[in-house]
Amino acid sequence: MTILHRALLDATRAGHGPALPDRGGDGHGRALERTDPVAPGHARRNPTATGVLPQIAARAEEAIALRHDLHRHPELAFKEHRTSARVAELLQQWGYAVTTGIGGTGVVGTLQRGQGNRRLGLRADIDALPIQEDSGLAYASQNEGLMHACGHDGHTAILLSAAHYLAHHGRIDGTLQLVFQPAEETGSGALKMIEDGLLERFPVDAIYGLHNWPGVPVGHFGFVDGPAMASVDWARLKVLGKGGHGAEPQGSVDPILAAAHIITALQSVVSRNVDPRQMGVVTVGSIHGGQAANVIPDVVELKLTVRAYLPEVRDTLRRRVTGIAEQTAAAFGARAEIEFPRGFPSVINHPQETAYIREVARQGFGEAQVVPAFAPRTASEDFAFLLQARPGSFVFVGNGDSAPLHSPRYVFNDAAIAPAASLWARLAEHYLVEDAA
Ligand SMILES: [Zn+2]
Ligand SMILES: [Zn+2]
Repeated sequence: MTILHRALLDATRAGHGPALPDRGGDGHGRALERTDPVAPGHARRNPTATGVLPQIAARAEEAIALRHDLHRHPELAFKEHRTSARVAELLQQWGYAVTTGIGGTGVVGTLQRGQGNRRLGLRADIDALPIQEDSGLAYASQNEGLMHACGHDGHTAILLSAAHYLAHHGRIDGTLQLVFQPAEETGSGALKMIEDGLLERFPVDAIYGLHNWPGVPVGHFGFVDGPAMASVDWARLKVLGKGGHGAEPQGSVDPILAAAHIITALQSVVSRNVDPRQMGVVTVGSIHGGQAANVIPDVVELKLTVRAYLPEVRDTLRRRVTGIAEQTAAAFGARAEIEFPRGFPSVINHPQETAYIREVARQGFGEAQVVPAFAPRTASEDFAFLLQARPGSFVFVGNGDSAPLHSPRYVFNDAAIAPAASLWARLAEHYLVEDAA
């Protein structure tokens, strides 16, 4: 176990903010001068330069060009054929053992060095969204109606930039598994890779993922202990009545009136059934019914998004949404049919692995670039499935002041690539060092 490992474990067990000792060496007798944090004043003046590894900075233009190429050619879930081919080609060029076609279009690059038995997984998502781009960028999407509006092109470029560094300059002793995952946006890619044997075929002791975050300064990182992103379930609700003439409502069962009461009653779920100290969201995002002002329709259809951090809150939301829909519909003589498939769970970061990467960031980038008490987010991520299977943590990476994720005007910040790639590289170099004991 290295100095860093011991310090982190001790600090984590003690339950206080880990104080890292000066790292005079990495167990191989080599100095680690480049991990010295810089003065906070410098970080404020030029945040993007702080903590970036020189070899990664030297290749920044190539990493940005690659990101722009991916951005021009966005591909939807499980159709990322060009993207995965590009990833596989580069990894192969750099000496990785590459396996393609995992869970559809997933790719894993494996780099094994030395005798160390530790195994680290780093994951990037590679898919785009069905959004018509309106960014005005010179390298905007060339695929009509498709856009990298969540920055997965950036996440892929970040991991590839780290991959290049680690293959050519990385001081690692152990096994690195780089996971390029399809279909994050549909919430199905991680599970599909796991079902295809990802974790048996490419075993890891810990796995980390990241997402860019608009509104957080570039070069800054956010870490969250425990629940970091919400579970998400989608419900489709049909309110079935009996249509008729709008002038003679007495002969009808009006599903629009019943649906209106259901929507109003659903607002009580979070306010009355969820512990006020916990997070829950019930959003009715779609309502469709009827065509004409003087016709009562047969059916109204609603679509809901339901989110929570805790599994028990998730169950409460499911139970109450279903009950209110069915019973409120019945109160109006209508009937509710509800489809409520389970979506994906909340991202729950493991405390020890979170403390570990937070310390790597503090040591490499300085305290000023670690956002204090970064709050959990109510968006969702299917990285949740990987964290259910293996210890690890999901990290937030500053994207500066951009339009929000999933906006047609969203722009991934190219200046975020080098710091985030440097965080991955530093994590791998700390994690994959020979056990000195
Ligand atoms: Zn997204
Ligand atoms: Zn995303």
